[in-house]
Amino acid sequence: MKKQAIFGGTFDPIHNGHLHIAYEALYKLNLDKIIFIPSGNPPHKFYREITDGYIRYEMVNMAIREEEKFELSDYEIKKSGFSYTYETLEYFKNSFQDIQWYFLTGVDCLMELDGWKNIDKIMEICELVVFNRPGFNKWAILRQKERVEKKYNKKIIFLDIPLLDISSTDVRRLIKENKNVRYFLPEGVYNTIKELKLYI
Ligand code: ATP
Ligand code: MG
Repeated sequence: MKKQAIFGGTFDPIHNGHLHIAYEALYKLNLDKIIFIPSGNPPHKFYREITDGYIRYEMVNMAIREEEKFELSDYEIKKSGFSYTYETLEYFKNSFQDIQWYFLTGVDCLMELDGWKNIDKIMEICELVVFNRPGFNKWAILRQKERVEKKYNKKIIFLDIPLLDISSTDVRRLIKENKNVRYFLPEGVYNTIKELKLYI
């Protein structure tokens, strides 16, 4: 059976922290493929305006093109509006047969798991793979991991890899402050941000 992962995110913009965890997952879990799925644009602006889906999609495209096991899907941005993770996972599960699915996520998402719609379906469809991020208490993480595992009667895969303290929020803020973000981002992504004058 093939092993494939879904890696969803806003990717506004995609950065080296995302690529770092994707590479680790690829090799540690021996995956055949990782599908990057940028989220759609929310219908209403709430706390900030998110960059157009196709621009975020193109930046991901540039970031992953050197790794043949990384793929990209416009499933969520094509739908426009907000997509629920469980719907996306159901769609992919139903579109392919005989695949063991994994869902990659940072620990910030694990801590907010109760807010996810139909989390039981997510836990049923895929193996949840969680990566640590700076700023989270180890004991709080362990408690949450155990709680979720017990509630859904399923193990979570926790990959404790070296942390990369990068977030899209930091990248956007640094650009606004006119600071150098070149080494947080793949070259093509950096150039696109400059060309389109994003985040200034
Ligand atoms: P923002 O600051 O805008 O929320 P972000 O850096 O968190 O951006 P997202 O697109 O929200 O990026 O994240 C997609 C997924 O990647 C999430 O599951 C998130 O937890 C994970 N992730 C992002 N950056 C890192 C990192 N440096 N280390 C581990 N996981 C990360
Ligand atoms: Mg985030």
